[in-house]
Amino acid sequence: MNARFKDWIDARKHADNEPICAYLYDLDHLEKHTQKVVSSLPGRFRMYYAMKANSEREILKSLSSVIDGFEVASLGEVEKAKEAGGNLPIIFGGPGKTDGEIEAAIRLGVERIHVESVQELRRVAWIAKKQEAQMPILLRVNLRGPFPSATLHMAGRPTQFGINEEEIPQAVRLAQELDGVKLEGFHFHSLSNNLDVERHIQLLHLYVNKILAWEKELGIQVTVLNVGGGIGVDLLHPEQSFDWDRFLPPLTALEQGLPDTLEMVQFECGRYLTATCGCYAVEVLDLKQNHGKHYAVIRGGTHHFRLPVSWQYSHPFEVVPVERWDYPFPRQEVVDSPVTVVGQLCTPKDVLAHDIPVSRIRVGDVLLFHNTGAYGWSISHHDFLSHPHPEQHYFRLASPLAHVGGEF
Ligand SMILES: *Cc1c(COP(=O)(O)O)cnc(C)c1O
Repeated sequence: MNARFKDWIDARKHADNEPICAYLYDLDHLEKHTQKVVSSLPGRFRMYYAMKANSEREILKSLSSVIDGFEVASLGEVEKAKEAGGNLPIIFGGPGKTDGEIEAAIRLGVERIHVESVQELRRVAWIAKKQEAQMPILLRVNLRGPFPSATLHMAGRPTQFGINEEEIPQAVRLAQELDGVKLEGFHFHSLSNNLDVERHIQLLHLYVNKILAWEKELGIQVTVLNVGGGIGVDLLHPEQSFDWDRFLPPLTALEQGLPDTLEMVQFECGRYLTATCGCYAVEVLDLKQNHGKHYAVIRGGTHHFRLPVSWQYSHPFEVVPVERWDYPFPRQEVVDSPVTVVGQLCTPKDVLAHDIPVSRIRVGDVLLFHNTGAYGWSISHHDFLSHPHPEQHYFRLASPLAHVGGEF
Protein backbone atom coordinates (compact mmCIF):
# COMPACT_ATOMS: atom_id res chain seq x y z
CA MET A 1 0.00 0.00 0.00
CA ASN A 2 2.83 2.31 0.96
CA ALA A 3 4.52 1.84 -2.41
CA ARG A 4 1.40 2.88 -4.28
CA PHE A 5 1.08 6.04 -2.27
CA LYS A 6 4.76 6.88 -2.68
CA ASP A 7 4.59 6.29 -6.43
CA TRP A 8 1.67 8.66 -6.58
CA ILE A 9 3.56 11.35 -4.63
CA ASP A 10 6.49 10.92 -7.00
CA ALA A 11 4.38 11.20 -10.13
CA ARG A 12 2.41 14.09 -8.74
CA LYS A 13 5.53 16.12 -7.89
CA HIS A 14 6.94 15.47 -11.35
CA ALA A 15 3.75 16.61 -13.00
CA ASP A 16 2.90 19.59 -10.86
CA ASN A 17 4.56 21.60 -8.09
CA GLU A 18 1.36 22.63 -6.31
CA PRO A 19 1.81 21.54 -2.64
CA ILE A 20 0.40 18.07 -2.00
CA CYS A 21 -2.57 17.72 0.30
CA ALA A 22 -4.57 14.55 -0.23
CA TYR A 23 -6.38 11.65 1.29
CA LEU A 24 -5.18 8.48 -0.43
CA TYR A 25 -7.16 5.28 -0.16
CA ASP A 26 -6.25 1.73 -1.08
CA LEU A 27 -9.53 0.07 -2.07
CA ASP A 28 -7.90 -3.33 -2.64
CA HIS A 29 -6.69 -3.29 0.96
CA LEU A 30 -10.11 -2.15 2.21
CA GLU A 31 -11.93 -4.95 0.41
CA LYS A 32 -9.44 -7.65 1.24
CA HIS A 33 -9.32 -6.75 4.92
CA THR A 34 -13.11 -6.44 5.23
CA GLN A 35 -13.71 -9.61 3.24
CA LYS A 36 -11.40 -11.50 5.57
CA VAL A 37 -13.25 -10.22 8.63
CA VAL A 38 -16.73 -10.84 7.21
CA SER A 39 -16.03 -14.30 5.85
CA SER A 40 -14.49 -15.40 9.15
CA LEU A 41 -17.58 -14.56 11.23
CA PRO A 42 -19.16 -17.64 12.81
CA GLY A 43 -22.75 -18.74 12.08
CA ARG A 44 -25.31 -16.12 12.95
CA PHE A 45 -22.89 -13.19 13.23
CA ARG A 46 -23.21 -10.43 10.61
CA MET A 47 -21.04 -7.38 9.89
CA TYR A 48 -22.70 -4.03 9.28
CA TYR A 49 -20.59 -0.97 8.54
CA ALA A 50 -21.03 2.09 10.80
CA MET A 51 -20.93 4.71 8.10
CA LYS A 52 -19.95 7.67 10.23
CA ALA A 53 -16.34 6.40 10.32
CA ASN A 54 -16.00 7.25 6.61
CA SER A 55 -18.90 7.84 4.26
CA GLU A 56 -17.06 8.78 1.07
CA ARG A 57 -18.93 7.42 -1.93
CA GLU A 58 -16.05 5.26 -3.24
CA ILE A 59 -15.49 3.72 0.20
CA LEU A 60 -19.16 2.84 0.55
CA LYS A 61 -19.35 1.47 -2.97
CA SER A 62 -16.29 -0.63 -2.36
CA LEU A 63 -17.59 -1.94 0.98
CA SER A 64 -21.07 -2.67 -0.37
CA SER A 65 -19.79 -5.78 -2.13
CA VAL A 66 -18.36 -7.30 1.06
CA ILE A 67 -20.41 -6.24 4.11
CA ASP A 68 -23.85 -7.42 5.28
CA GLY A 69 -25.43 -3.99 5.70
CA PHE A 70 -25.02 -0.34 6.71
CA GLU A 71 -25.52 1.24 10.12
CA VAL A 72 -26.61 4.87 9.77
CA ALA A 73 -27.57 7.72 12.10
CA SER A 74 -29.20 10.31 9.83
CA LEU A 75 -31.33 10.59 6.73
CA GLY A 76 -28.26 11.80 4.85
CA GLU A 77 -26.57 8.51 5.69
CA VAL A 78 -29.67 6.53 4.64
CA GLU A 79 -29.40 8.23 1.25
CA LYS A 80 -25.68 7.47 0.99
CA ALA A 81 -26.35 3.81 1.81
CA LYS A 82 -28.94 3.67 -0.96
CA GLU A 83 -26.54 5.28 -3.42
CA ALA A 84 -23.75 2.85 -2.53
CA GLY A 85 -25.66 0.14 -4.36
CA GLY A 86 -26.01 -3.51 -3.50
CA ASN A 87 -29.44 -2.87 -1.97
CA LEU A 88 -28.07 -3.81 1.44
CA PRO A 89 -30.10 -3.74 4.66
CA ILE A 90 -29.89 -0.45 6.58
CA ILE A 91 -30.20 -0.14 10.33
CA PHE A 92 -30.88 3.29 11.79
CA GLY A 93 -29.61 4.38 15.22
CA GLY A 94 -28.40 7.48 17.01
CA PRO A 95 -29.89 10.03 19.38
CA GLY A 96 -32.34 12.78 18.43
CA LYS A 97 -34.17 11.32 15.44
CA THR A 98 -36.75 13.76 14.07
CA ASP A 99 -40.29 12.76 13.09
CA GLY A 100 -39.32 13.45 9.48
CA GLU A 101 -36.33 11.12 9.70
CA ILE A 102 -38.38 8.37 11.32
CA GLU A 103 -41.14 8.72 8.73
CA ALA A 104 -38.64 8.62 5.85
CA ALA A 105 -36.71 5.70 7.34
CA ILE A 106 -39.92 3.64 7.50
CA ARG A 107 -40.98 4.71 4.02
CA LEU A 108 -37.55 3.97 2.53
CA GLY A 109 -37.56 0.44 3.90
CA VAL A 110 -34.92 0.70 6.64
CA GLU A 111 -34.62 -2.78 8.14
CA ARG A 112 -34.74 -1.77 11.79
CA ILE A 113 -34.66 1.32 14.01
CA HIS A 114 -32.57 1.38 17.19
CA VAL A 115 -34.66 3.24 19.74
CA GLU A 116 -32.73 5.55 22.05
CA SER A 117 -35.38 6.50 24.64
CA VAL A 118 -38.89 5.75 25.85
CA GLN A 119 -40.14 8.99 24.31
CA GLU A 120 -38.60 7.97 20.97
CA LEU A 121 -40.23 4.55 21.29
CA ARG A 122 -43.64 6.22 21.47
CA ARG A 123 -42.83 8.47 18.52
CA VAL A 124 -41.60 5.62 16.30
CA ALA A 125 -44.74 3.61 17.10
CA TRP A 126 -47.01 6.60 16.49
CA ILE A 127 -45.38 7.49 13.14
CA ALA A 128 -45.31 3.85 11.96
CA LYS A 129 -48.96 3.38 12.83
CA LYS A 130 -49.91 6.42 10.74
CA GLN A 131 -48.09 4.72 7.84
CA GLU A 132 -49.92 1.48 8.65
CA ALA A 133 -46.56 -0.11 9.31
CA GLN A 134 -45.16 -2.20 12.10
CA MET A 135 -41.54 -1.11 12.41
CA PRO A 136 -39.00 -3.67 13.64
CA ILE A 137 -36.96 -2.14 16.48
CA LEU A 138 -34.18 -2.83 18.94
CA LEU A 139 -34.01 -0.99 22.25
CA ARG A 140 -30.62 0.58 22.79
CA VAL A 141 -29.45 -0.15 26.31
CA ASN A 142 -27.16 1.92 28.49
CA LEU A 143 -25.88 -0.80 30.81
CA ARG A 144 -24.88 -0.18 34.39
CA GLY A 145 -21.19 -0.94 33.74
CA PRO A 146 -18.41 -0.42 34.61
CA PHE A 147 -16.72 -1.46 31.36
CA PRO A 148 -13.20 -2.37 30.30
CA SER A 149 -10.93 0.49 29.39
CA ALA A 150 -11.16 1.89 25.86
CA THR A 151 -10.80 5.30 24.28
CA LEU A 152 -14.48 6.29 24.39
CA HIS A 153 -17.33 5.08 26.57
CA MET A 154 -20.93 5.41 25.46
CA ALA A 155 -22.49 3.40 28.30
CA GLY A 156 -21.85 2.37 31.90
CA ARG A 157 -21.80 6.06 32.81
CA PRO A 158 -24.03 9.06 32.19
CA THR A 159 -24.21 9.76 28.43
CA GLN A 160 -26.90 10.77 25.95
CA PHE A 161 -27.07 7.21 24.61
CA GLY A 162 -29.62 4.47 25.14
CA ILE A 163 -32.15 3.61 27.81
CA ASN A 164 -31.02 3.00 31.40
CA GLU A 165 -30.76 -0.68 32.16
CA GLU A 166 -33.19 -0.18 35.09
CA GLU A 167 -35.87 1.13 32.72
CA ILE A 168 -35.66 -1.76 30.26
CA PRO A 169 -38.52 -3.85 31.76
CA GLN A 170 -40.83 -0.85 31.52
CA ALA A 171 -39.71 -0.03 27.96
CA VAL A 172 -40.21 -3.65 26.88
CA ARG A 173 -43.77 -3.68 28.26
CA LEU A 174 -44.54 -0.44 26.47
CA ALA A 175 -43.09 -1.73 23.20
CA GLN A 176 -45.33 -4.80 23.47
CA GLU A 177 -48.42 -2.61 23.91
CA LEU A 178 -47.70 -0.33 20.96
CA ASP A 179 -49.07 -1.49 17.58
CA GLY A 180 -46.59 0.41 15.43
CA VAL A 181 -43.44 -1.39 16.57
CA LYS A 182 -42.17 -4.94 16.67
CA LEU A 183 -39.56 -5.42 19.38
CA GLU A 184 -36.96 -7.83 18.01
CA GLY A 185 -34.18 -7.38 20.54
CA PHE A 186 -31.54 -5.12 22.00
CA HIS A 187 -28.71 -2.91 20.89
CA PHE A 188 -25.49 -2.36 22.81
CA HIS A 189 -22.68 -0.09 21.73
CA SER A 190 -20.85 0.65 24.92
CA LEU A 191 -17.32 1.58 23.99
CA SER A 192 -15.04 2.52 21.15
CA ASN A 193 -11.47 1.63 20.22
CA ASN A 194 -11.17 -1.39 22.46
CA LEU A 195 -7.92 -3.21 21.73
CA ASP A 196 -8.24 -6.14 24.09
CA VAL A 197 -9.64 -9.41 22.71
CA GLU A 198 -10.41 -11.00 26.09
CA ARG A 199 -12.24 -7.96 27.32
CA HIS A 200 -14.26 -7.75 24.14
CA ILE A 201 -15.34 -11.36 24.53
CA GLN A 202 -16.29 -10.66 28.15
CA LEU A 203 -18.36 -7.73 26.98
CA LEU A 204 -20.22 -9.91 24.44
CA HIS A 205 -20.89 -12.50 27.14
CA LEU A 206 -22.26 -9.75 29.35
CA TYR A 207 -24.63 -8.68 26.54
CA VAL A 208 -25.77 -12.26 25.91
CA ASN A 209 -26.36 -12.88 29.63
CA LYS A 210 -28.45 -9.71 29.83
CA ILE A 211 -30.73 -10.71 26.97
CA LEU A 212 -31.11 -14.26 28.33
CA ALA A 213 -32.11 -12.84 31.71
CA TRP A 214 -34.62 -10.43 30.13
CA GLU A 215 -36.10 -13.23 28.03
CA LYS A 216 -36.78 -15.20 31.19
CA GLU A 217 -37.84 -12.32 33.37
CA LEU A 218 -40.01 -10.50 30.84
CA GLY A 219 -41.32 -13.46 28.82
CA ILE A 220 -39.99 -12.16 25.51
CA GLN A 221 -38.09 -13.76 22.68
CA VAL A 222 -35.04 -11.96 21.34
CA THR A 223 -34.39 -12.69 17.66
CA VAL A 224 -31.81 -9.97 16.98
CA LEU A 225 -28.91 -8.83 19.11
CA ASN A 226 -26.71 -5.93 18.06
CA VAL A 227 -23.36 -5.84 19.85
CA GLY A 228 -22.23 -2.50 18.38
CA GLY A 229 -18.83 -1.63 17.02
CA GLY A 230 -15.89 -0.50 19.09
CA ILE A 231 -13.22 -2.91 17.92
CA GLY A 232 -10.05 -0.85 18.00
CA VAL A 233 -7.03 0.02 15.94
CA ASP A 234 -3.83 0.98 17.69
CA LEU A 235 -2.78 3.99 15.66
CA LEU A 236 0.62 4.13 17.31
CA HIS A 237 1.36 0.41 16.90
CA PRO A 238 -0.97 -0.85 14.17
CA GLU A 239 0.70 -4.27 14.19
CA GLN A 240 -0.46 -4.67 17.82
CA SER A 241 -4.08 -3.84 17.01
CA PHE A 242 -7.04 -5.97 17.96
CA ASP A 243 -6.05 -9.55 17.17
CA TRP A 244 -8.96 -10.78 15.06
CA ASP A 245 -7.56 -14.30 14.63
CA ARG A 246 -7.36 -14.72 18.40
CA PHE A 247 -10.89 -13.32 18.74
CA LEU A 248 -12.43 -15.97 16.45
CA PRO A 249 -12.23 -19.16 18.57
CA PRO A 250 -13.95 -17.68 21.66
CA LEU A 251 -16.42 -15.90 19.35
CA THR A 252 -17.26 -19.24 17.70
CA ALA A 253 -17.70 -20.86 21.12
CA LEU A 254 -20.01 -18.06 22.17
CA GLU A 255 -22.04 -18.41 18.97
CA GLN A 256 -22.47 -22.14 19.52
CA GLY A 257 -23.89 -21.51 22.98
CA LEU A 258 -26.57 -19.09 21.81
CA PRO A 259 -30.21 -20.19 21.94
CA ASP A 260 -31.69 -21.42 18.62
CA THR A 261 -34.31 -18.69 18.75
CA LEU A 262 -31.69 -15.96 18.35
CA GLU A 263 -31.53 -15.51 14.58
CA MET A 264 -28.86 -12.88 14.10
CA VAL A 265 -26.06 -11.15 16.02
CA GLN A 266 -24.88 -7.96 14.39
CA PHE A 267 -21.60 -6.14 14.65
CA GLU A 268 -21.64 -2.56 13.41
CA CYS A 269 -17.98 -1.66 13.14
CA GLY A 270 -16.58 1.54 11.73
CA ARG A 271 -12.94 2.12 12.64
CA TYR A 272 -11.86 -1.50 12.45
CA LEU A 273 -12.93 -1.78 8.81
CA THR A 274 -11.72 1.51 7.34
CA ALA A 275 -8.91 2.94 9.51
CA THR A 276 -6.04 1.14 7.80
CA CYS A 277 -7.09 1.74 4.17
CA GLY A 278 -6.38 5.47 4.14
CA CYS A 279 -3.53 7.88 4.43
CA TYR A 280 -3.31 11.69 4.73
CA ALA A 281 -0.43 13.01 2.59
CA VAL A 282 0.67 16.59 3.19
CA GLU A 283 3.59 18.65 2.01
CA VAL A 284 5.84 20.63 4.34
CA LEU A 285 5.40 24.34 3.50
CA ASP A 286 7.66 25.81 6.16
CA LEU A 287 10.11 24.85 8.88
CA LYS A 288 10.83 27.18 11.75
CA GLN A 289 12.13 27.35 15.25
CA ASN A 290 10.19 29.21 17.93
CA HIS A 291 11.28 29.41 21.57
CA GLY A 292 13.66 26.52 20.96
CA LYS A 293 11.14 24.16 19.36
CA HIS A 294 11.06 23.01 15.73
CA TYR A 295 7.81 23.35 13.83
CA ALA A 296 6.89 21.88 10.46
CA VAL A 297 3.96 23.75 8.88
CA ILE A 298 2.08 21.52 6.46
CA ARG A 299 -0.40 22.13 3.65
CA GLY A 300 -3.56 21.11 5.53
CA GLY A 301 -4.19 20.59 9.23
CA THR A 302 -6.78 19.58 11.78
CA HIS A 303 -9.61 20.97 9.60
CA HIS A 304 -8.90 17.90 7.41
CA PHE A 305 -7.75 15.51 10.11
CA ARG A 306 -9.12 16.37 13.53
CA LEU A 307 -8.65 13.00 15.25
CA PRO A 308 -5.27 13.71 16.94
CA VAL A 309 -6.44 16.98 18.44
CA SER A 310 -9.78 15.48 19.40
CA TRP A 311 -8.16 12.51 21.15
CA GLN A 312 -5.09 14.41 22.34
CA TYR A 313 -2.42 12.19 20.82
CA SER A 314 0.36 12.57 18.25
CA HIS A 315 -0.47 10.77 15.03
CA PRO A 316 2.57 8.92 13.64
CA PHE A 317 3.88 9.97 10.24
CA GLU A 318 6.53 8.99 7.75
CA VAL A 319 8.71 11.52 5.93
CA VAL A 320 8.68 10.88 2.17
CA PRO A 321 11.66 12.71 0.65
CA VAL A 322 10.80 14.82 -2.40
CA GLU A 323 13.77 15.95 -4.48
CA ARG A 324 12.05 18.66 -6.45
CA TRP A 325 13.15 22.17 -5.38
CA ASP A 326 12.41 24.96 -7.84
CA TYR A 327 13.55 27.99 -5.82
CA PRO A 328 16.86 29.80 -6.44
CA PHE A 329 17.71 29.79 -2.71
CA PRO A 330 18.69 27.09 -0.19
CA ARG A 331 16.24 24.59 1.14
CA GLN A 332 15.44 24.71 4.85
CA GLU A 333 15.86 21.41 6.73
CA VAL A 334 15.89 19.99 10.24
CA VAL A 335 18.16 17.03 11.06
CA ASP A 336 18.02 14.63 14.03
CA SER A 337 15.63 16.73 16.09
CA PRO A 338 12.14 16.54 17.51
CA VAL A 339 9.61 18.33 15.31
CA THR A 340 6.04 19.42 16.01
CA VAL A 341 3.76 19.16 12.97
CA VAL A 342 1.16 21.89 12.64
CA GLY A 343 -1.39 22.94 10.03
CA GLN A 344 -2.40 26.18 8.37
CA LEU A 345 -5.05 27.23 10.86
CA CYS A 346 -4.61 30.34 12.96
CA THR A 347 -4.97 28.56 16.28
CA PRO A 348 -2.32 26.93 18.50
CA LYS A 349 -4.57 23.85 18.69
CA ASP A 350 -3.87 22.99 15.06
CA VAL A 351 -1.28 20.31 15.92
CA LEU A 352 -1.12 16.80 14.41
CA ALA A 353 1.98 15.53 16.21
CA HIS A 354 4.07 16.89 19.11
CA ASP A 355 7.87 16.68 19.38
CA ILE A 356 8.43 13.69 17.13
CA PRO A 357 12.10 12.83 16.51
CA VAL A 358 12.95 12.86 12.80
CA SER A 359 16.24 12.08 11.10
CA ARG A 360 15.65 14.62 8.34
CA ILE A 361 12.75 16.76 7.23
CA ARG A 362 12.92 19.42 4.51
CA VAL A 363 10.56 22.04 3.16
CA GLY A 364 8.90 20.33 0.19
CA ASP A 365 9.03 16.81 1.66
CA VAL A 366 5.73 15.03 2.09
CA LEU A 367 4.47 13.62 5.38
CA LEU A 368 2.38 10.47 5.21
CA PHE A 369 0.02 10.09 8.14
CA HIS A 370 -0.94 6.42 7.95
CA ASN A 371 -4.17 4.75 9.05
CA THR A 372 -6.36 7.81 8.62
CA GLY A 373 -9.20 5.98 6.87
CA ALA A 374 -11.62 6.28 9.80
CA TYR A 375 -12.74 9.42 11.65
CA GLY A 376 -10.29 11.52 9.62
CA TRP A 377 -11.93 13.67 6.99
CA SER A 378 -15.42 12.67 8.18
CA ILE A 379 -15.17 14.28 11.64
CA SER A 380 -13.24 17.42 10.68
CA HIS A 381 -14.43 21.03 10.44
CA HIS A 382 -13.64 21.36 6.74
CA ASP A 383 -14.39 25.01 6.14
CA PHE A 384 -12.79 26.70 9.12
CA LEU A 385 -10.51 29.34 7.48
CA SER A 386 -11.78 28.44 3.98
CA HIS A 387 -8.67 26.64 2.80
CA PRO A 388 -9.14 24.24 -0.12
CA HIS A 389 -10.25 20.73 0.68
CA PRO A 390 -7.71 17.91 0.26
CA GLU A 391 -7.77 15.89 -2.91
CA GLN A 392 -9.26 12.41 -2.50
CA HIS A 393 -7.70 9.60 -4.51
CA TYR A 394 -8.75 5.99 -4.62
CA PHE A 395 -6.29 3.35 -5.71
CA ARG A 396 -7.13 -0.01 -7.10
CA LEU A 397 -4.80 -2.19 -9.09
CA ALA A 398 -5.10 -1.36 -12.79
CA SER A 399 -8.16 0.71 -12.21
CA PRO A 400 -9.39 3.79 -14.03
CA LEU A 401 -10.27 5.24 -10.63
CA ALA A 402 -6.67 6.13 -9.87
CA HIS A 403 -5.60 9.60 -10.86
CA VAL A 404 -2.44 11.35 -12.08
CA GLY A 405 -0.87 9.60 -15.00
CA GLY A 406 -3.35 6.73 -14.70
CA GLU A 407 -0.61 4.15 -14.36
CA PHE A 408 -1.47 2.96 -10.85
C1 LIG B 1 -19.84 5.14 16.08
C2 LIG B 1 -20.72 3.98 16.29
C3 LIG B 1 -20.33 2.72 15.86
C4 LIG B 1 -18.98 2.43 15.27
O1 LIG B 1 -18.00 2.58 16.21
P1 LIG B 1 -16.46 2.14 15.90
O2 LIG B 1 -15.76 2.45 17.15
O3 LIG B 1 -16.01 2.96 14.74
O4 LIG B 1 -16.52 0.70 15.55
C5 LIG B 1 -21.21 1.67 16.03
N1 LIG B 1 -22.44 1.86 16.57
C6 LIG B 1 -22.86 3.07 16.99
C7 LIG B 1 -24.19 3.21 17.58
C8 LIG B 1 -22.02 4.16 16.86
O5 LIG B 1 -22.42 5.36 17.31
